Parts: sequence; structure tokens; C-alpha cells
Amino acid sequence: MEIVIVGAGPIGCYTAQLLKKYGIKVRVIEEHKEVGRPVKCAGIVGRQVFEDTLIGISKSSVINQINGAFFFYKEDNFRIEREGVAYVIDREKFDKELSKGLNVECGRRLLEIEKRGKGYWLKTSSGDIFADIVIGADGAKSRVRKFMMSELGMLKENKEDDLKDGIKDGIKYYNGWQYRIRVEENFVPEKFAQVCMSEGIPFFIWTIPESEKIIRVGIISKNGRIKLNHFLAETKIKGEIIDKLAGIIPLGMITKTSDKNIAVVGDAACHIKPLTGGGIYYGLKAAEILVECIKENDLPEYDRRWKRKFGREIRFGLWARKVYEKLNKQETKNIFSLFKENEDLIEQAANFENHSVVFRKAFKRPKIFLGATKILGRNIRKIIS
Ligand SMILES: Cc1cc2nc3c(=O)[nH]c(=O)nc-3n(C[C@H](O)[C@H](O)[C@H](O)COP(=O)(O)OP(=O)(O)OC[C@H]3O[C@@H](n4cnc5c(N)ncnc54)[C@H](O)[C@@H]3O)c2cc1C
Repeated sequence: MEIVIVGAGPIGCYTAQLLKKYGIKVRVIEEHKEVGRPVKCAGIVGRQVFEDTLIGISKSSVINQINGAFFFYKEDNFRIEREGVAYVIDREKFDKELSKGLNVECGRRLLEIEKRGKGYWLKTSSGDIFADIVIGADGAKSRVRKFMMSELGMLKENKEDDLKDGIKDGIKYYNGWQYRIRVEENFVPEKFAQVCMSEGIPFFIWTIPESEKIIRVGIISKNGRIKLNHFLAETKIKGEIIDKLAGIIPLGMITKTSDKNIAVVGDAACHIKPLTGGGIYYGLKAAEILVECIKENDLPEYDRRWKRKFGREIRFGLWARKVYEKLNKQETKNIFSLFKENEDLIEQAANFENHSVVFRKAFKRPKIFLGATKILGRNIRKIIS
């Protein structure tokens, strides 16, 4: 049986490593010349990435430990602490580490897929190959997902308004930007990330320290580069930009991510936390479920199992994101104030990978419940439209 994984990002490589571990032959094709490049990631991951996976992932890519975060709304701020909650990684090294021992066919791009009997004929930039099973780990703009959705009759005509909003085939695409800066003065405590909320930005601006001297500052937003430059000027962060990156985050809940002999995983399947855009942990967990289903010869079951594991989190995140994106200036400020007044709760309950936990606990506090209900009430029409 020939299993072909398209894409040697972290999730494609981890899937291949798991298959290899169970003695299942696998072939990995990757369009770029090298695994891990270009980098399109802020590179902050929760500790679970290293502590809660079936195959232990080496920490050799870790360059800093994060012990908490400062949350900002303009000048106002508060801080939560949690020793070792996350790590700052060198993403190129992380991906390369995951690809060790695999024979990745780099420089081979999937161009087209054709159904042939029970399998698939893959047209690639360097010749055609046959696959009994195809796994699409080919990221945000996955060709495998597009093919699968079309085969399953899941592609509907896109509405003009959706396209304007960056929504295509039920998936909303967000653009992210990041600068790596060698700073002139210490701007961020070395072990704390910064999260800056601001109206008009669908996510937040992040500052992640690699060390005392080097920080990563990024944003996910339309016109992100302009807004990022504006933020740097406003906050008077001075230094030399030593690296720039840009990437896409696909958010949505795909109705079906597998069929008999085909599946998508990681960003290709929108396995991403909608409130932060982080995708590595969910992608790794989905890969484990996918390989379990391949072993059991029951790929259609994959869809149900990953949704049972973290589908509710994604659904909640998508809903909360929709609410957050509708807030006006005053409401964003009010939400921030609610967070600040309840920083003790956030510090206790915040979970790097499962964001709904803190919200569920927060809603049990009457003041938060009332504040949130007021905001929801005002926006309900916009949210359900
Ligand atoms: C700006 C930004 C910041 C982010 N920050 C974080 C963060 O801090 N923490 C976090 O957890 N997540 C973060 N993410 C998300 C994270 O990068 C992704 O969730 C993660 O990379 C998903 O891994 P993947 O293997 O599914 O996809 P990818 O990493 O995108 O890998 C897909 C691979 O498939 C290859 N490929 C694509 N098409 C083809 C083709 N046709 N033929 C052959 N190969 C192909 C690509 O070259 C690529 O190597 C961020 C994303 C962005 C855009």
C-alpha cells in the first residue's frame, strides 16, 4: 500500500514519523527545496507540544521559555504569570527535527489529483505518482482539501460579500506579518510575551522575546504591515529588523476532513485555535488520531474522532472570534477591563491550548456574566447575520 503525504511541514512530518513508527510505509513530497523554509510562524508553542505527544519531540529548537504574559489595551495593562507555560522555538529547526530520518522528496510540488480506481493519481512537478491513500498536510491553501471538497460535493458558489471578507469555500483567510528585531533597549521582560488588544485588529499584536536583545513583533490583520509599522512607531520600539515573515491563517470548521482513502490534517484541515491562530498543537493531536484510523483501516472515522477531541474548542473559538470582531471601541475597552478586573481568574484558569476553559469559568462570575451578556445582546444581530 502506498501512502503519500503532501507537505513536509510539522504536521506532515509528524504524521509520517507516526506511520513509520508503526511500520507503515509512507512517502512525503514537499514543494520547497528544504524542510522548514520559508518560516511562516511566530514560533510560540504551549509546553504540551513537548509533553503531550505520542512521539517525544526534541527540545533542541527551544530558544526561550515563557513564564506568562502582559496584556495591553493602549497604556492600560495587567500581567499573568505561569512558570514555563510556553516556549519560543526556532521554527525551521523544529520542522527539521521532525523530518529527521524521513526521506522527504523536496522540490516536488503536487499539481493535480485524479481519482483512479480506489486510489489517486498525483501529478507533480517532477513526474506522476500513484497513491492508495493521500494525506493532505499541505497547509492553509491545501490543494488536497480543495480536491476532496470538490469530490464530496462540498464546494458551493462563493458569495461576493464573503469573498470581500476573505471567506472562500467556508474558510476565512487571515494574513499575518512578523518582524524579528534586534532591539536597542530592553523593551520586553525576557520571559514574558505581550498581547496588545486594539479595535480594528481581528486578533492582537504580539511581542515575543527570544532573548534580552531579540524580539518578534507580529500582527494578524488586513494591512498588517502598515499597522505593525504604526505600532512600532507608537511604542517607540527601536532596533534593527533582522527578519520579516508573512503567512496565512485559515479558520473554519470543515464539515468533512476525510473519506475512504483521503484525508487532510493540520492547517489543511483548519486545525487551528481560532482565538490566537496557533495551529501546531491541534495539528499534532489530529495527526495522532489520523494515524490511529489508518491503522484501523477506518479513515472516515478520523473526522468524528478529532472533532470529539477538540472540535468543540474550535467551534467555541470561531464563535468568540465572531463576537470579538464585531466589538466597537468602547466594547473592546470594556472587555479588556473585565479581563483586568478578573486577572486572578485568568491566571488560575487560562489554558494555552483550550481557550474555552477560562471563558466557562469566567461566565460563572456574575459581573462577567452580566457584562458579557450586555455586549452579546447589543451585537446579537451582527453575530448571527
Ligand atoms: C504569522 C503566523 C504566525 C503563527 N504563529 C504560530 C505560533 O506562534 N504557534 C503556533 O502553534 N502556530 C502558529 N501559526 C500557525 C502555524 O504556523 C501552522 O498552524 C502550522 O505551520 C501548521 O503546520 P502544517 O504542517 O499543517 O502546515 P504548514 O506548516 O503550512 O506546512 C505545509 C507544507 O506543505 C507544503 N506544500 C503546500 N502545498 C504543496 C504542494 N502543492 N505540493 C507539495 N508541498 C506542498 C508547504 O511548502 C509546507 O511545507 C502561525 C501562522 C502564521 C501565518
